[in-house]
Amino acid sequence: MKEQIIVETHVHICEPRYDVDRDEMLKRSFESGVKKLINIGADIEENKKVADFDRDGIYKSIGLHPHYIDKFNEDVFNEIKGYIVNKKNIVAVGEIGLDYFKSPSSKENQILIFKKFLSVAKEYNLPVVIHSRDAHDDVYNILKEYNLEKKGVIHCFTGNFETAQKFIDIGYLIGIGGVITFPNAAILKDTVRKLPLEFMVLETDAPWLAPQQYRGKRNEPAYLKYIIEKIAEIKNISVDEVIINTTKNAEKIFNI
Ligand SMILES: [Zn+2]
Repeated sequence: MKEQIIVETHVHICEPRYDVDRDEMLKRSFESGVKKLINIGADIEENKKVADFDRDGIYKSIGLHPHYIDKFNEDVFNEIKGYIVNKKNIVAVGEIGLDYFKSPSSKENQILIFKKFLSVAKEYNLPVVIHSRDAHDDVYNILKEYNLEKKGVIHCFTGNFETAQKFIDIGYLIGIGGVITFPNAAILKDTVRKLPLEFMVLETDAPWLAPQQYRGKRNEPAYLKYIIEKIAEIKNISVDEVIINTTKNAEKIFNI
C-alpha cells in the first residue's frame, strides 16, 4: 500500500524550545509520516524566523496572535506584511484572531488588528489560520463579513458541534489537536464524532498542548499519531481513513 503523508497544519518550529534539537525533531516528524508542515508565526520575533526558515516540506504562515498585539504598530504591520508578500512558501496568514480569555489588548483593538490581517489575506488571496478563544461569535461574524475567497482553519478548536457547524457552513475547516486525547474533553469528542472528515485538519500546536501520553511535556509533530488514533477510535473508522481525508483537506486549503 502507498505510504500516506500526514499534514501537520499548525506547529511552531521556530520556537526557542526546539533550539537544542530542531533537526532531530523534524527528522522524527518525517519518519513518523508527517512530511508536510505549516510553520506558524505568532509574534514579531517568530515571524522573522519562520519567514527565513526554508526546508523541503515546510510551509509558512505569518501573522500576529492576539496575545502579542500590544506590540502592534504600523511598522510592525508593514514588517509582517512584507514577509507575507516577499518570502517563499507563504501559504497562509496567521495565526490571527480574537482571544477574550486572555489578551493584553481590548476587544476593540483586537478586532481592528484582526481585520487588518484579514484584509491582507484578501488582497493576496491566501487562507487564514484563526485563533479563537471565548470569541467564537465575533470571529464568526467577522469572517462571514470578510467572505475570503480561500477561507481557512479554525485552529485548536475545542467547541461544540453547533459552533463547528457554523464555521463549516461559511467554508472553514476545523483544526483538531491534542485536546482530543484528554480524558475530560467530552464536548470536543462529541464534536469530532459528528463532524464529517471532509471538514477536519490535523494539528499539534507544538511545542504546546502535548497529547495525553506526553501531557505537560514538550510537544512535537511526530505525536500527531496519537491524535489520529483518537479520532479514528471516536469515529470508529481506520487510521488510514483519517489520514487520507485530513491530508486531502490540508493540501487543498493551503495549496501544498
Ligand atoms: Zn499556535
